[in-house]
Amino acid sequence: MKKTSNFDADIVISGLGPTGLVLAHCLGKRGHRVIVLEREPLFYGNARAVYTDDECMRVFQSVGVAEELQKNMLLDTPAQWVLSDGSVLSQYGPLKQPFGWPHISFFYQPYLETSLSDLLAKYPNVEICRGREVIDFSQDGQSVSIEHRATQESRSSDHSGDSINTGLAEDIQHIRARYLVGADGGRSIVREKLGIKMTGKNFPEPWLVVDLKMKDGEDAIRHIPYFNFYCDPDCPAVSCPQPDGYHRFEFMLKPGQTKEYMEKPETVRKYLSKYVDPDKFEVKRRLVYTFNALMAERWRDQRVLLAGDAAHMTPQFMGQGASSGVRDAYNIAWKLSAILEGKADDSLLDSYQTERQHHAQAMIDISVLMKDIVSISSPVKALARNVGIKLGLATPFVRDFFYEGKFKPSPVYKKGEYFGLPRRKRNGPEGAMSPQPEVRNILGRRQLLDDITGDNFALVGYETDPRATLSQSTVDFLDSIGCRYINVMHYGNRPQNKPNVERSTPEGLVEVEDLQEQMTTWFEKAGKKEGSVAILRPDKFSFAVVSAKQAETAVQQLKTMMLPSQLKSYKGEEEVLDVVTH
Ligand SMILES: Cc1cc2nc3c(=O)[nH]c(=O)nc-3n(C[C@H](O)[C@H](O)[C@H](O)COP(=O)(O)OP(=O)(O)OC[C@H]3O[C@@H](n4cnc5c(N)ncnc54)[C@H](O)[C@@H]3O)c2cc1C
Repeated sequence: MKKTSNFDADIVISGLGPTGLVLAHCLGKRGHRVIVLEREPLFYGNARAVYTDDECMRVFQSVGVAEELQKNMLLDTPAQWVLSDGSVLSQYGPLKQPFGWPHISFFYQPYLETSLSDLLAKYPNVEICRGREVIDFSQDGQSVSIEHRATQESRSSDHSGDSINTGLAEDIQHIRARYLVGADGGRSIVREKLGIKMTGKNFPEPWLVVDLKMKDGEDAIRHIPYFNFYCDPDCPAVSCPQPDGYHRFEFMLKPGQTKEYMEKPETVRKYLSKYVDPDKFEVKRRLVYTFNALMAERWRDQRVLLAGDAAHMTPQFMGQGASSGVRDAYNIAWKLSAILEGKADDSLLDSYQTERQHHAQAMIDISVLMKDIVSISSPVKALARNVGIKLGLATPFVRDFFYEGKFKPSPVYKKGEYFGLPRRKRNGPEGAMSPQPEVRNILGRRQLLDDITGDNFALVGYETDPRATLSQSTVDFLDSIGCRYINVMHYGNRPQNKPNVERSTPEGLVEVEDLQEQMTTWFEKAGKKEGSVAILRPDKFSFAVVSAKQAETAVQQLKTMMLPSQLKSYKGEEEVLDVVTH
């Protein structure tokens, strides 16, 4: 990569797992110079993550890879709780797509990571250095100096997870960058060097994970098409479908069962036989592991950030570990980008942990609850669970909890802890992810809204040009941060026919019709009528949703919050908030 300043890179990412990959895409697309140091000389081919959700698909969409990744996914796959007699206790498989993508998609992690890695080739500004491990770093007010060397101990890709000595000379080198992101997994060296502790719980219950590949020409999983939590007190288990004949089973160990015993081929065969014909599958991996529910105490130290498993470790029962890392990457990327481009002060990064931590913790908590529901091994307690859920399903609360997925934490930041104007009422849109409707453009084509709002801030008017009440200097500021302007209208409600209707679209405005009235309903639910304006952040969370007459003040507040060091002079902060909130 060409060195164009005193820095070798804008950002160094340590680790090319799902978190590092998505972050490299987000920053690469924004044109920043990125160096990724990945310890493993070769791609680590073992599957871990199998599931992702609509929020992450939206992130993949933002970097133009969703369509490609979707080719190797099982979309809209229901998840269900199954009793030992095979009957379905409850099912989760909502088909509505508030964020524009299916809620439940299953993938094969090596496919996902290989695609993401290959697709990075389109960014000449992103350099991937495999077989290089970060060993230390130091930072000052302007930069981080990262020390790295040829990997000494590499992770074996067989089922044992053991390390092997590479025998390479160290070849220590240094990189000077403006920021370092430690996306280097649960045993993060970046976190260790910062002396940041993880708090939470290590769970003692071990599980056996078995990854299978159906043999060529076989057709042997018709009877287990969906994701199953087997609520079987004799042996709680999980069955995960994946594309291309890959399949995973997980079995909870009973007290006294050892790792050695469980990983024996004959034991694995015995457990598999309950669900499939083992002769029709090749066992790709069998491994006993325990899981962690841990959170790093701090996610940032000046110019160094932690993301993904380096910042939080999530038990796999909700399939949210990698997804949490994807969310971190998306949250960090636009903030780092705005800072590097001089559009925001470094203080913008203060909101990274405050926004993401509560959501990541909520995912950890629900994953533990899900494990508790599934892994009951006392027959009496299991019966009580089954009866309780069956009775509960008659009530809207429990029905929605399971069927509509209300158990899953929503993408809503904690009140008072996000970058945005205050949430004025319970379930208000500020600090929450905005919907992504399918809209109809002027060419009569259907489009997902994010493809129009783009990578920067966007002002979305509800049946209005969102600039209608803004001063020219405010529009100039918005233009300077690359803002886009969209008028979302009811379907069939474009301006038409009357003599006062302009014959050309106002410059810089995109007018679209909301095909399922999703965004217009969202405005109405927020108590906002036609003529209102939403300020959407680059990551599609709402900064504010305000009436037309509040729009000028809300944008000024955005400016103040982006660049507090330069703009303290614009009224007092309290005064501005006051105008907006009352
Ligand atoms: C059995 C199982 C099932 C799971 N199922 C799901 C699921 O369905 N859905 C889901 O979302 N999540 C799931 N997870 C969790 C998911 O796999 C992890 O949360 C995810 O891989 C974390 O991504 P990451 O990029 O943060 O870290 P990692 O995937 O751990 O990647 C970190 C990278 O950093 C590299 N690295 C480490 N140290 C250094 C160093 N010093 N220098 C340079 N590079 C370094 C590593 O080689 C690695 O490539 C599952 C996990 C397990 C174990």
